[in-house]
Amino acid sequence: LLPIALHQFIYRVQSPTALPTFLLIGPSGAGKTAFLTLTERNSAAQTHTSTAPLTIQALLPEGFVPSSSHYRSAGDPAYERARRFLLLDTPGHGKLRHFATARLVNPSNVRGIIFFIDAASVAEDTGLNEAAEYLHDVLLALQKRYTGAKTSKGPKEIPVLIAANKLDLFTALPPHLVKISLEKAVSEVRKSRAKGLKDSGVAMGAEEDMVDEERNWLGEGGEGSFEFRQMEEVGTSVVVKGGNVLGGDGTDVKNWWDWISEQL
Ligand code: GDP
Repeated sequence: LLPIALHQFIYRVQSPTALPTFLLIGPSGAGKTAFLTLTERNSAAQTHTSTAPLTIQALLPEGFVPSSSHYRSAGDPAYERARRFLLLDTPGHGKLRHFATARLVNPSNVRGIIFFIDAASVAEDTGLNEAAEYLHDVLLALQKRYTGAKTSKGPKEIPVLIAANKLDLFTALPPHLVKISLEKAVSEVRKSRAKGLKDSGVAMGAEEDMVDEERNWLGEGGEGSFEFRQMEEVGTSVVVKGGNVLGGDGTDVKNWWDWISEQL
């Protein structure tokens, strides 16, 4: 009997499902798969593709320290354990996005969301609007998760990293402009969604209409513009950090590893 119990114990400790998970989200073509592949290659000896096709088990690269382990030394089993995490790639294609949002509604072990965007594509309206619509929906899902929580303390925070990728391209917007452009575009999405609701709400009573509007309005009330820092009110930090997975001069993903380290 003992060996079985031991086996189960070890399985539970090592079970990949217990590892902190980061979701890779964003429009297709942003570089999610490229980042996943890079991560897998970086820690080649320790990673493996798990049974779920889009999940890989990864290890924080050398030189990055999980925030929970600042006082531990390398070689300490707890330190080594804290460096392990899962990266879950989600399909960016519009019809498959429910995949990502379903995971948001019921997140087990989701430690953070990495929203990838192509910083060159957001320099154009089409790319910017597509990214903004997707981002709006992700942030609204997080807001609803917070406001719908049963406990007064609110659910555990799920921070968001907006990874402005492809900075090696000379047409790419620098991260601070990516941030401003996205905030503006998300404001527009918010406005047009509210209008859509109002237009479709003919059958609803005025009161229901109001409640529904409030629930679906991202960020603070009022007609002003949306800013990412409004998400802090609903327990979600949103930061924009630049990098590039590929490019002539090699990769630069240090900012993103730093952010992941802070969450581990
Ligand atoms: P996904 O749809 O988000 O998974 O995007 P992919 O990872 O498939 O990348 C889409 C395209 O962008 C591919 O052709 C990649 O080679 C390219 N790509 C990804 N990251 C970068 C980058 O940092 N710089 C450049 N120049 N191209 C990139």
